[in-house]
Amino acid sequence: MRARLPAVVRVADHHAAGPHWICAACAQPWPCPTWTNLPIDAALRRALLPGFSLLTRQAIRDLRGRPEGPEPPEIVKRFLWFLPLTDEEARAVARRLR
Ligand SMILES: [Zn+2]
Repeated sequence: MRARLPAVVRVADHHAAGPHWICAACAQPWPCPTWTNLPIDAALRRALLPGFSLLTRQAIRDLRGRPEGPEPPEIVKRFLWFLPLTDEEARAVARRLR
């Protein structure tokens, strides 16, 4: 466990909130590569899903409807990158979260 701690701390530094959803640490669209490059396994997927589902709902409210902004299914795929979602599934999730 001790060996994993630095990675956890590094990820925690990479946070963001609405309405812009830009990473506070690296200024990239969030979730930034520090998150999306995490090795994903079933346990991490289960750990991420509840919180990121809430964030996805908020991000859709913040980001949709902007000029050149992402559409809700794109936001779903961005914020739930750790799930293997097809375009159709992402559209279904986006409809549920609106
Ligand atoms: Zn970052």
